[in-house]
Amino acid sequence: MNHHLASYLSGQTADDLAGSKREFLEIGRKSGNYPMASARRDGVDSEVSVWCSNDYLGMGQNPQVIAAMQAAVDTHGVGSGGSRNIGGNNHHHVLLEKELADLHGKEAALLFTSGYTANEGSLTVLAGMPKDTLVFSDAKNHASIIDGLRHSGAKKFIFRHNDVAHLEELLAAAPADAPKFIVAESVYSMSGTVAPLAQIAGLADEYGATTFIDEVHAVGMYGPQGAGIAAQEGIADRFTVIMGTLAKGFGTIGGYIAGPAALVDAVRTYARSFVFTTSLPPSVAAAALASVQYLRSSDAERKALAENARYLHSLLISADIPFLSTDSHIVSAFVGDDDTCKRASQLLFERHGIYVQSINAPSVPTGEEILRIAPSAVHDQTDVENFAHALHGIWKELNIPTASARDAR
Ligand code: PLP
Repeated sequence: MNHHLASYLSGQTADDLAGSKREFLEIGRKSGNYPMASARRDGVDSEVSVWCSNDYLGMGQNPQVIAAMQAAVDTHGVGSGGSRNIGGNNHHHVLLEKELADLHGKEAALLFTSGYTANEGSLTVLAGMPKDTLVFSDAKNHASIIDGLRHSGAKKFIFRHNDVAHLEELLAAAPADAPKFIVAESVYSMSGTVAPLAQIAGLADEYGATTFIDEVHAVGMYGPQGAGIAAQEGIADRFTVIMGTLAKGFGTIGGYIAGPAALVDAVRTYARSFVFTTSLPPSVAAAALASVQYLRSSDAERKALAENARYLHSLLISADIPFLSTDSHIVSAFVGDDDTCKRASQLLFERHGIYVQSINAPSVPTGEEILRIAPSAVHDQTDVENFAHALHGIWKELNIPTASARDAR
């Protein structure tokens, strides 16, 4: 078990918790099923406060989601029995795809067994059709995007991270009549930066490009009903395909694309990572559906996450700890050295019972090592303060350069 909610359950009273947050923490408390991690090598049980979980909204512990999964297990058992095309199709898959298409305002959606296979499979197909498509891809795009584009065989141009001027330069230099395809993420997984989506949409219109936006670190967390950053900016309809995961904000497992029916059908027909693999268990689809539906009607988790992220940003700024971006809930504290980063992670764990993973190469380039901190909706204000205080102590002890020291270089 990996969750900081354990610490609430033992220590805090509901009165400590403010406003909207109280209600869903109460729900979590009532369901009472949060074992604690054994943190210490001496075998003494102690609680671990987790600060690097992608279950950003705590939906993996949401009682309604758990109940939906349990009910589906009772009805359908634990496996799907086959691929979607051969024996592994279930009512819950179909309902979930309808819900996701509706969430994103698209004609259709298609489920995959993970966000990774959704990107890899659909980009292999979409970027490779027609054959002479030119692809324009952000330099910080995820490995699954890179693999999909590689497998498509399309000619690829990489634009500097979030640099729309560079993107435009590359688009303008390409033959006017070549089919063009732009791929970007909305929230970047390691830096926490947010893409200039409106400008990307503008360039796509100008150059007639198809667009594919990975909203893996945004769905559930941003936008009306959790539809993501493009929806938050009111421009989801300007992107051809929105891609998402069910494994982060929605707290379960699986990935998907949502877009025009014809494109989704092409992916359904040709994407090898869709066709040649066993589908998600019906119980997972049922749980994911409950999670999506819950987050379409509840803002409490989104608000709590945003509040915690903002508070952590402000505390780290006061402590002069450098981090990469204030754009999103992903707070990447910049260490810039492999051994120091691992040591910082180890000390946080040993001294404070805080788990935050050090991120080293190949996830980030050598010399850009970070502690990728993920505050969540189920942390509270005191947790955030304790975390920032602990991090500050470790920063000083290991003599990690402060933000001002880095600026002065
Ligand atoms: N896209 C991005 C930007 C990611 O960060 C990740 C995983 O972290 C994925 C896709 C893959 O998603 P999943 O974990 O559901 O396979």
